Amino acid sequence: MEQIVSVGIVDSYFKKLKENLTVDVAIVGGGPSGMVAAYYLARQGFKVSVYERKLAPGGGMWGGAMMFNEIVIQKEALPILDELNISYKHYDKDYYTLDSVHATSALIYHATQAGATFFNCTSVEDVVFLDNKVSGVVLNWAPVHREKMHVDPLVIMAKAVIDGTGHDCDIARILERKNNIQLLTASGKVEGERSLSIDEAERTTIENTKEIYPGLYVSGMASNGVSGGFRMGPIFGGMLLSGKKVANLIADNLNK
Ligand SMILES: Cc1cc2nc3c(=O)[nH]c(=O)nc-3n(C[C@H](O)[C@H](O)[C@H](O)COP(=O)(O)OP(=O)(O)OC[C@H]3O[C@@H](n4cnc5c(N)ncnc54)[C@H](O)[C@@H]3O)c2cc1C
Repeated sequence: MEQIVSVGIVDSYFKKLKENLTVDVAIVGGGPSGMVAAYYLARQGFKVSVYERKLAPGGGMWGGAMMFNEIVIQKEALPILDELNISYKHYDKDYYTLDSVHATSALIYHATQAGATFFNCTSVEDVVFLDNKVSGVVLNWAPVHREKMHVDPLVIMAKAVIDGTGHDCDIARILERKNNIQLLTASGKVEGERSLSIDEAERTTIENTKEIYPGLYVSGMASNGVSGGFRMGPIFGGMLLSGKKVANLIADNLNK
């Protein structure tokens, strides 16, 4: 019995890892935008993996605002909630509230159910850069990365990579810092996020969701961080819509 349990875990984990050494889309960050992108891409039949350095995917969604676990969403994002069967209540004007634990767990469920594979406790520490194109990600266990242990990473090849790492826009920063390249931003560099302006930021989160370098796309707060958009305060519709937009962009490009 003891051996069956251990062998079962090891066999099935390594099968999963081996099957995902080459994917269509590698998503860095299991926040709301990354998970929505994972759902829409996997549902269309793309091979999708999500790398999340924390134990649980969900990013900044679990805690609502200041740990009040309710989320506000504007009406433009309701079709996504309806599609994923996520419950919400009308609050005022065009705004709705939902329970953040219900909504976050639903995103995880639907992304995995659609076929996306999640690797939690896993940090992306670099990209694969071939022929002036982002062609994959470089992985390590999150504790190895955090402790700065002297352990080499593994490599995953991907046709497209999404930087969904939130405010840090980790992947875009690494690409720019290491490769002397110009990103598709005003200065060609990571512009850095601006202060809070809710309406403006919700709009620009979606506008700034794009391919910022061949092979590298940005979603969610990383979009605003890269392009110098405002932060928006605790409203999450832009994150969901950004995830759907980046999925559509990638699907169009990969289907060409
Ligand atoms: C300091 C702070 C300020 C915030 N301010 C705002 C705000 O102004 N407005 C607002 O709407 N929300 C804010 N939030 C809440 C929340 O982060 C976002 O609204 C929303 O969750 C962003 O969604 P996202 O999809 O961009 O990714 P996030 O929810 O930010 O998730 C990103 C995920 O990527 C993971 N990750 C990061 N780097 C790596 C890596 N290298 N490898 C693997 N995984 C990685 C993280 O662990 C995280 O789970 C804030 C959060 C924090 C922590």
